[in-house]
Amino acid sequence: MADKQVVYVDGSFVGKMDAKVSVFDHGLLYGDGVFEGIRAYNGRVFKLKEHIDRLFNAAKALSLQIPLSKAEMTEVVLESCRKNGIADGYIRLVVTRGFGDLGLSPLKCPKPSIICIAATIALYPPEFYDTGLKVITSTVRRNKATIIDPQVKSLNYLNNILARIEADRVGAPEALMLTEDGLVAECTGDNIFIIKGDEIWTPPIHMGILDGITRSTVIDLAGKNGFKVIEKEFTLFNVITADECFLTGTAAEIIAVTELDGKMIGDGKAGTVTNELLAIFQKYTKENGEDI
Ligand code: PMP
Repeated sequence: MADKQVVYVDGSFVGKMDAKVSVFDHGLLYGDGVFEGIRAYNGRVFKLKEHIDRLFNAAKALSLQIPLSKAEMTEVVLESCRKNGIADGYIRLVVTRGFGDLGLSPLKCPKPSIICIAATIALYPPEFYDTGLKVITSTVRRNKATIIDPQVKSLNYLNNILARIEADRVGAPEALMLTEDGLVAECTGDNIFIIKGDEIWTPPIHMGILDGITRSTVIDLAGKNGFKVIEKEFTLFNVITADECFLTGTAAEIIAVTELDGKMIGDGKAGTVTNELLAIFQKYTKENGEDI
């Protein structure tokens, strides 16, 4: 697929090497744009409506008028999968502010650019799903919602990248980010859950986190399978004293965290609730989605 990969750019499918945007695109110059990371499983695009809705909401927050309807955008994603023979894969959908001048004002950018890349996915190595991740807490606080709301999945990911650099420096696969007040927010590309006794806790959206689609799916599936999920604020102390901890994200799905800042969580292996939820989630992903 790699050689023949075609990428959607502004209405046409072009070869990978010809898929380009202008150096005057404000997505490049200022991180001015929005994006989605979407999964395809078993010939279907998972939670496509939710991803398209989130993209349009993020664009609205930036006063960015997407030049396609939601139905047309849906078709762009499905056609990108078809053209690249993707039945299981990862789709990156991007809307940039488009070509402009060197000033900041979006008024000089008459037409947003739309890019859709359908590719295969590089997952965490399978053994990580048994051993869990050894995560660090970043010194970089998650953006406050009053500055750039983390609900806006924008092309400006520097907040997360700064945290990720700290993780990379010590060889950790993810970094946990806190709010300005020191409460647990989310990781650089994943939401977080902890399990204590018969309760599953996850931070509420209003704390300043991305409204993760995997997070919502897990809350829904856990509830339907008899688990008690509570959206509440909690601290690092609650994480290290939890029975289990796991992260959720489109790429990672559900993955255990077994160590935080050198402190073991639970018995240091992926826990039984985490494994049970992963099995429920994986079954669900194989059976649900928009047909390609
Ligand atoms: N938080 C952040 C900061 C993210 O970038 C992502 C997506 N990679 C998530 C959480 C998980 O969201 P989703 O389940 O919708 O992929």
